[in-house]
Amino acid sequence: MKNLTRSLTVLSTAIFFPISLSPAFAAELKSVDDFRPAADKANAILTIPEWPQTPDAVTKSVKDAIALANKRLDEVGAQDLKKVTFKSTIVALDDLAYDATTAAYTAGLIKQTNKDAAMRKAGEVAVKDFEDWAVGVDYREDVYKAVKAFADTKPNLSGEDKKLFDETVRDYRRAGLALAPDKRKEVEELRKQLAKLGTEFESNVVDAKGPVVFTKAELDGLPESFFASPGIKTGDDAYTVLANVTWQYVAVEDNAKNEATRKKLYVARDTLAKDTNVSVLNQMLPLRNNIAQRLGYKSWDDYQTEIKMAKSGAGAKKYIGDLVTGIQPKFSAELAELQKMKAAETGDPKATINTWDFRYYDNQLLKQKYTVDKESLRNFFPYQKVVDGMFNIYQNIFGLKFTQIEPPYKWIDDLQLYMVTDSTTDEPLGMFYLDMFPREGKFNHFAQFGIIGGKLLANGKYQRPTVALLCNFPPPGPGKPSLMSHDEVEVLFHEFGHCLHSIVTRAHYGRFAGSNVPGDFVEAPSQMLQNWVWNKDVLDTFAADYRDPSKKIPADIVQKMNDAKLATVGMFYRRQFALASVDLALHDVHPEGAPYDCVAISNPLWEKIFLPIDPSTAFVAYFGHLNGYDAGYYGYAWADAIAADMATVFEKAKNKYFDREAGMKLRNEIYAQGDSRDVALSVEKFLGRKQSVEPFLKKIGVKPTDSKEKAGPPPPEAR
Ligand SMILES: [Zn+2]
Repeated sequence: MKNLTRSLTVLSTAIFFPISLSPAFAAELKSVDDFRPAADKANAILTIPEWPQTPDAVTKSVKDAIALANKRLDEVGAQDLKKVTFKSTIVALDDLAYDATTAAYTAGLIKQTNKDAAMRKAGEVAVKDFEDWAVGVDYREDVYKAVKAFADTKPNLSGEDKKLFDETVRDYRRAGLALAPDKRKEVEELRKQLAKLGTEFESNVVDAKGPVVFTKAELDGLPESFFASPGIKTGDDAYTVLANVTWQYVAVEDNAKNEATRKKLYVARDTLAKDTNVSVLNQMLPLRNNIAQRLGYKSWDDYQTEIKMAKSGAGAKKYIGDLVTGIQPKFSAELAELQKMKAAETGDPKATINTWDFRYYDNQLLKQKYTVDKESLRNFFPYQKVVDGMFNIYQNIFGLKFTQIEPPYKWIDDLQLYMVTDSTTDEPLGMFYLDMFPREGKFNHFAQFGIIGGKLLANGKYQRPTVALLCNFPPPGPGKPSLMSHDEVEVLFHEFGHCLHSIVTRAHYGRFAGSNVPGDFVEAPSQMLQNWVWNKDVLDTFAADYRDPSKKIPADIVQKMNDAKLATVGMFYRRQFALASVDLALHDVHPEGAPYDCVAISNPLWEKIFLPIDPSTAFVAYFGHLNGYDAGYYGYAWADAIAADMATVFEKAKNKYFDREAGMKLRNEIYAQGDSRDVALSVEKFLGRKQSVEPFLKKIGVKPTDSKEKAGPPPPEAR
């Protein structure tokens, strides 16, 4: 593994140098110091992050940061309550949280990137220590007293200051600090019980195993590679499939021709943890509502969504309800097509599509009508061309310039650092690192990580942010560059959007800067940018066969890719909406004194919105999101719908996805604002109108008139 890593580094270095840039580039890279005069002019500060070099130094950096933050919290708590000011309370809290978080960010990045396992371990422990400490901060009574004393002065604040004040006070209220001491004790006791049950729920999910033994004939339709996978063949004609192992479950549901096989495994999957977690959930749900009510909310979904864009459980429910209704024509059409396929295959004209059927017929449909050779598409996406192409587009539409600079410290040889400047004013806005290929011990997904956040400092200067993009693109092979899949190109466009959101921020407070926005909004701008890579005009600016760059992706292939994406989207989303609706219904207002029955709530709702189930199942017991994303699952669909709505600004603009005016609007109204003003308002300003779910419905193939004509509750065939 070590040797492999080293040779990859050598190879990828070669790939990293784009030919057009090489002469000047190889000679000398600029340094961060070259940008300091322009930063001074803009009253901005550029900081190269400090990287501790030993495990002890990592531990110490976070320990020191926590100690310093505690000292500052003591000072906030010890001040004369008659002399409290905005600065000595609310701003002081933002300042100290910002500094402590910066140390934790650095440790977090070391955990994800360092080549030395001991360094990674030190980073991991330091982050855990920081998280444990951060939880306790909200419960400091002395600090709350100072905040309360300031709140009692009924301060006259406006704009971002007011928002910071309101939300700081709100967070203490949510933590129970506004309650009388005995009431607060009760809430704390309930929270402890809830946390214990949550842990139990999670362990039950992890521990649930669902082995089902099939004969080879029963698994007819599965590829040979499946049978050859380790652990599958367990006897002469015995193949053990684990219902709890998602890839095995999906492989069988996607491919098994035999309905009884699909149903057997589905029943095993949707009864996982039923005997343990149904009872755990029936205790957790009333506890959650009990806590919410004691804190002044009608229900847990109101409590959870208060800090989100949805703002209330009813707001989330209405949105999902509108989508369920709106998507009905597309869902019905897909269902009819799958039904026809099943009728033909089984010879039963009345055959119905059940929960254990949809994956199989979706897969058949895609195979029969929409096959795209995904592997050969890679030839059109050599890594460096894709990155350069994306840079060109984003620099152009957002009015930015990216300049590669020399990183003073590199955790790997091929690490790259870029300075982002405003292309009109030359103002430096921040920096991003690129760490793009896999290696042992590295973070193994694709994500943007904050290192230094944006913040207006006490001296009036603005600390510009630094972030890192950690990816795992395929390493270059012998004699060929790193070739990305289309999915990976989409991920790059998405993740880099998060970098921009972080870097171009203008928010004054650390709490609101960059992508520190409500959880049901943070993905929307990046999801919007995913549209770019499905557009032929965009692709043609950079996607070309690396062996013969005159060859672009043929138009009919791009069309087929788009058609394939749409073919089963109705099924996909109705399932998402069913999960979101179940999650919201479980956390809704509950009749006083009535016992909780999570299965009685979830199973009928699933059938109403999605497809028939087997009555012995209880999928809710294995719905892991219910611990951690509780009353939050709706956020996935919510962000998708807002993303589609936002994309219309570009789609209607003169230059479509290349439109500078639309890009600048996104930069100024969404990215730069962060959470410094209500995100719903920012979206409205960007759109120039109220939000609508219509663009989302249109995007997934519901014609504008469809949703109006056929609006109403789901028709019987969905049951
Ligand atoms: Zn994302």
